[in-house]
Amino acid sequence: MARILLSTDHVHRPRRRWFPPTADEEKEHGAVVGLVAQLYDAVLDKCAQCQQELLAHVAGDPSTAGVLVGWACLITSENYGELPWILLEGAERADAPFQPSAAFCSIAAEYDHCGLGPAGLYAFCGALSDDERLQAAETALEIVVGLDDFGLDFMFR
Ligand SMILES: [Zn+2]
Repeated sequence: MARILLSTDHVHRPRRRWFPPTADEEKEHGAVVGLVAQLYDAVLDKCAQCQQELLAHVAGDPSTAGVLVGWACLITSENYGELPWILLEGAERADAPFQPSAAFCSIAAEYDHCGLGPAGLYAFCGALSDDERLQAAETALEIVVGLDDFGLDFMFR
């Protein structure tokens, strides 16, 4: 899998709980799947510097953002049996610790409604602005790492 070269000169050691998306997407849709895995490792290691740089790459690339968001939806569906309402409608309380972005919720609602495949996800991410794509990617990461740290209570604390 392709790795993105960063201005930071270190690598993060994988401590993954979830399997990152497979490399097939890379060939078929031009998504940089390795970037998602690299970002996941940086976030698990709480490295803000790498996270920021990698997120900028993801936000600029609809296919890769689609892989990340789709992966978060998949992990969530597998853990809860479906996508919880909070991902479709947003948090109920303004002070809730987990606040999914509106951009992420709009994609999750489509995913829930018609089981968006990769092509649909990429098209959706392509229609978002760079800011929205960044927010969707940030929520996806928060979910993947949050489920790791807090288990199923994560979204409803
Ligand atoms: Zn780093």
